Amino acid sequence: MTALPLHAANPGPYTGAGNWTYLVPGAEPLLIDAGVGNREHLDAIAAAAPGGPARVVVSHAHPDHASGAPAVSARWASATFAKVPWPEEDARWGVRWESLADGARIATGEGDIEVVHTPGHAPDHIVLWHASSRTLFGADLVQLGNTVAIPASKGGDLTAYLRSLKRVRALAPARVLPAHGPVIEDPLALIEHYLVHRHHREVQIVTALEGGIDTAEAIVARIYAGLAPRLVPLATENVLAHLVKLEHDGLARRDGPRWQLIT
Ligand SMILES: [Zn+2]
Repeated sequence: MTALPLHAANPGPYTGAGNWTYLVPGAEPLLIDAGVGNREHLDAIAAAAPGGPARVVVSHAHPDHASGAPAVSARWASATFAKVPWPEEDARWGVRWESLADGARIATGEGDIEVVHTPGHAPDHIVLWHASSRTLFGADLVQLGNTVAIPASKGGDLTAYLRSLKRVRALAPARVLPAHGPVIEDPLALIEHYLVHRHHREVQIVTALEGGIDTAEAIVARIYAGLAPRLVPLATENVLAHLVKLEHDGLARRDGPRWQLIT
């Protein structure tokens, strides 16, 4: 599988060094993720595919993946755009989205790529699977050296995320090309690490609830001691994601902002 990594040139507090997008060359070049419309990114796309991408597939509607769509469209009017729908968010990005569904196949110069719907980080999140090379374009499903945010009050769903991780584990990818960080050469080990980490977090949160610590904010203060203040909102969303999963599992219930175990 030949896929050219093209950096979106958007470093920041939530994107780390910034996003990777990927160009699969061929008669109809495919761009995976639209970046944010930065000039350096558009120039890199032009250098890799002088006629521009025939098709842009966006992994999910978060701004670092989708907000560049209008800039790509302005530069290459013939490019088409596709993603799994998340209507409230998609409308922000000012292009016409073709609707993708789980199992859709996308023809490329490198053979077919299959859409795998992997909700959790976002409801519309997909990864792209190139079976013949066992290469997965992983978007925000996994990232080396970090865990993935589950923004529970903005479409994140930990139960769905864990199911998505297990679904990708069953594909047994040989390598993952992610949207953030370096290429993942041992994805099954990373997925295993993620599953263990999430289980460990759940145990910590159950222990906090048992001790009478009953809001997401208070649980963050307990289990993320010394966390940088700017990261507290993300951690709070992650704890909330765990609490919602416990509710889902019939193990906890909420009363406004307060949570308690069902005993
Ligand atoms: Zn994202």
